[in-house]
Amino acid sequence: MLTPFRNEALTDFTLPENRAAFEKAMVKVKAELGRELPAVINGQEIWNGEGFVSINPARPAEVVARFPKLGIEHAEQAIKAAAEAFKTWQYVPVQERAGYILHAAGEMRRRKQEFNAVMVLEVGKSWAEADADTSESIDFLEYYARQALRIADSSEMLIPYPGEQNGLYYIPLGVGVVISPWNFPNAIATGMTAAALVTGNTVCFKPAEPSSWIAAKICELFWESGIPHGVLNFLPGKGSVIGAHMVEHPQTRFIAFTGSKEVGLRMFEQAGQTKPGQLWLKRTILEMGGKDAVVVDETATLEAASVGIVQSAFGFQGQKCSAGSRAIIVDSVYEQVVGRAVELASKLTVGAPDTSAWIDQGPVVDANSFKKILDYIELGTQEGKLLLGGSPLDTPEKGYFIPPTIFGDVDGNARVAQEEIFGPVLACVRASDYDHALQIANSTEFGLTGALFSLNRQRLERARREFHVGNLYFNRKCTGAMVGAHPFGGFNMSGTDSKAGGPDYLLLFTQAKLVSERL
Ligand code: NAD
Repeated sequence: MLTPFRNEALTDFTLPENRAAFEKAMVKVKAELGRELPAVINGQEIWNGEGFVSINPARPAEVVARFPKLGIEHAEQAIKAAAEAFKTWQYVPVQERAGYILHAAGEMRRRKQEFNAVMVLEVGKSWAEADADTSESIDFLEYYARQALRIADSSEMLIPYPGEQNGLYYIPLGVGVVISPWNFPNAIATGMTAAALVTGNTVCFKPAEPSSWIAAKICELFWESGIPHGVLNFLPGKGSVIGAHMVEHPQTRFIAFTGSKEVGLRMFEQAGQTKPGQLWLKRTILEMGGKDAVVVDETATLEAASVGIVQSAFGFQGQKCSAGSRAIIVDSVYEQVVGRAVELASKLTVGAPDTSAWIDQGPVVDANSFKKILDYIELGTQEGKLLLGGSPLDTPEKGYFIPPTIFGDVDGNARVAQEEIFGPVLACVRASDYDHALQIANSTEFGLTGALFSLNRQRLERARREFHVGNLYFNRKCTGAMVGAHPFGGFNMSGTDSKAGGPDYLLLFTQAKLVSERL
């Protein structure tokens, strides 16, 4: 008998014993730095020389892990292994599959600080952001195990028909390709993989290159928890090479992807082209980018709004799909809210996050992101008024540090107010009134998250209908969706609105089979 689902508690790092536990875990994972981590296909480790490395973005010369040179022959091997494993895994009782996923949850809970420490080193998360990521990961495991049991036999949902015994069964799809991003390197990778496995599919898992170390740890955890080799195959490698090959492969039944709009759109097209010998229409679960807005009207509690803007814009250096990268504020309170947001953001501490629990902002993830964000900052100086930040930190180790950067008086149609920057850059847009603010909020091609700070009931209700985003929040920040409470996914160019962490998510990894027996 399972206990009801409850969200995992966050670690309180103000307590010295919790800081000590994190520091101990950090010593453990630092002893692992620089190892060669093979691909694992059907339980066989593959190391054929170094293909790429994952680095610590706070000290880019520090290699955290090394990975092999995978090519399309490895993608072929993995798909073959996953297809073979599917022949038996699909019939393993759901109770047994859910049991393995729950073992993984328990083990991750016990090793929480170790998983946190890896993310602090590999992608530059603060301790608190890493802890939220691991907590969400545990939540996905606990939640999907329970949901799989719930949906497996849905016969009681059918209307009884005289003289017949009818059954509705959600059965697995087949071989899935799971392709994850680096920004929630534990939660999203674990969540998509667990959802696929617990519903009886087999998986070829390719993580984002900058977060391949944490991905290797997640796979080890699954195998140690009882998931058979072959059912889960680990392929750290280039997206454009092995990722693309697996997406196009005729034996791939579905693709679970989270990442950028550009890559997601390409996959959508590729998945739509059936190959000779392909027996199905490929299922795609594609979650993509955002240009999320925090709207503030003149009735709002302005201090709460300013805090919400800063938390939404700068958590994990603005590298969240849900980041509130636009603050849209009505004219009469614009100066006050923007002034306070600048003041609050200027107090955020920036530095190497392994050095202290009190660092708010670490580095951005890699050299490419660093350059792209700085290019947008350059553009922002032409499109708006620089109010804070704007220049990278010059550290001895040449870390990719960009402090919180705020532009004021940006036009809603400016590129820095329309395109996903994915860094600590906030565009503040002045709206003449609430109508105008809502219109600006809805003016991008995305539709992922949004927040409205207002105490006016009619305006809240209007936003409930008209603010066109998958996850809308009132009088709170637009980041930090909780599994079970806030199913997550976006509209328009933000993706297929899969609502991860919600009651319908697992259905995407299944097909429903109706069996009717004449009595
Ligand atoms: P990305 O699109 O660059 O990469 C995502 C994954 O796709 C990586 O594993 C990458 O190796 C792989 N890939 C790249 N090219 C490929 C190809 N041609 N074929 C197959 N696979 C390929 O994204 P990223 O930089 O890792 O992540 C950041 C992006 O993810 C942002 O746009 C962010 O908004 C988005 N994101 C969305 C959500 C959501 O739930 N909507 C959540 C987190 C991140």
